[in-house]
Amino acid sequence: MRQSHLFTKTRKENPSDEVSKNAELLIRAGYIHKEIAGAYSFLPLGLRVLENIKTIIREEMNREGGQEVFMTALQDKSIWEKTDRWDDAKVDNWFKTTIKGGGETGLAITHEEPLTNIMTGFISSYRDLPRYAYQFQNKFRNEARAKSGIMRGREFLMKDMYDFSKNEAEHNEFYNKMREAYIRTFDRLGIGEKTYVTFASGGIFSPFSEEFQTLSDAGEDMIYVDEKKKLAVNKEVYNDEALAKLNLKKEDLVEKKSIEVGNIFHLGTKFSVPLGLFYTDEKGEKQPVYMGSYGMGPSRIMGTIVEVLSDEKGIVWPTSIAPFSLHLIALYKNKDEESYKKAESLYNDLTAKGVEVLFDDREASPGNKFADSDLIGIPMRVVVSEKSLTAGGVEIKERTSDTSEIVTVEELFKTYQKNCE
Ligand code: ATP
Ligand code: MG
Repeated sequence: MRQSHLFTKTRKENPSDEVSKNAELLIRAGYIHKEIAGAYSFLPLGLRVLENIKTIIREEMNREGGQEVFMTALQDKSIWEKTDRWDDAKVDNWFKTTIKGGGETGLAITHEEPLTNIMTGFISSYRDLPRYAYQFQNKFRNEARAKSGIMRGREFLMKDMYDFSKNEAEHNEFYNKMREAYIRTFDRLGIGEKTYVTFASGGIFSPFSEEFQTLSDAGEDMIYVDEKKKLAVNKEVYNDEALAKLNLKKEDLVEKKSIEVGNIFHLGTKFSVPLGLFYTDEKGEKQPVYMGSYGMGPSRIMGTIVEVLSDEKGIVWPTSIAPFSLHLIALYKNKDEESYKKAESLYNDLTAKGVEVLFDDREASPGNKFADSDLIGIPMRVVVSEKSLTAGGVEIKERTSDTSEIVTVEELFKTYQKNCE
């Protein structure tokens, strides 16, 4: 894409109404727009990153047999009453509204209830199990605090996967596969090293759950980390019993702030019984379906990546989710110059080869172009200038490196290939 066509522009000043680094940088670089506190729009660059994150998650969910659905955000009150999660006294962060002609609805805070209800129409025998369904969908939560940018939205994107299994053993087998799938996903998203499987409270669902916590001072959670074992315990369940259950020793643990980027839950029959999701087993007996739920926040993950990987110049995207693979910058005074023509033909060649290129073809100073490039955070920068051409080619620089080198166009293609492997 030509940067001269991009409708967003970068800004030098931080927005005055943001306190989180992810929101400041993402707004300055033109990735997102804040509508109201806790509600953000994703602009062209931001949507590209979000879609790349979704693609990686989708691949990992499909690999474990997940079937993608897309459910409505508008909720049927009667279903939520059956599990006692409609009453504001029980769940205090609903956005609810009345329906013209009568009745009330709420915007989905999560989707255990409606999906379990859907499954009652399709699951009746042991032959129908196990089944796995997931979606990427907006959730709405009237969060009390929304100061963490896209890491805590009042409207936010969630990937929610659910398993429908015959019994605890079958569910556990899938749960363990999902734990591995989550570890793989965070590795591919570039935050694997900083992300810990964390023993946590199961809330209203179960005695415990596991969270995926990414170490960051911007986090709202406090965890105790065993770096050698690559395990952690959330402060909310940090007690002798939990430590004993895991073989963890107080000596070995370090207190750290962290961001919850995902979690996996045992639901048991908590939803299937009240919503009537039963099946007939091999002996002809009626049994409740055994369930689990597996959440991840793609928008929170995007914010987390900005928090943990950016530097003083701006954002640093991992190659796997960057909005473009290359930032091609033409330095020229007028478009008749060789440098502009070379850059343009390089842009056309790379694009034809399927390489995603952001081409800075704008009439702007080199200083402005470089500052914008660092702020936007594409992993590889390629500069075509009179100087680079005289030196024999184009100047390439990785976003995180302080040094650049001159390479020929053929070498550029090779380097690009290497970086993408
Ligand atoms: P938290 O403890 O941070 O409030 P949660 O435990 O309520 O989150 P879940 O309801 O299990 O989270 O949601 C699944 C995932 O969705 C979370 O692990 C997180 O990645 C993401 N998520 C939850 N709340 C938000 C939010 N307000 N904004 C953005 N992402 C969120
Ligand atoms: Mg939580």
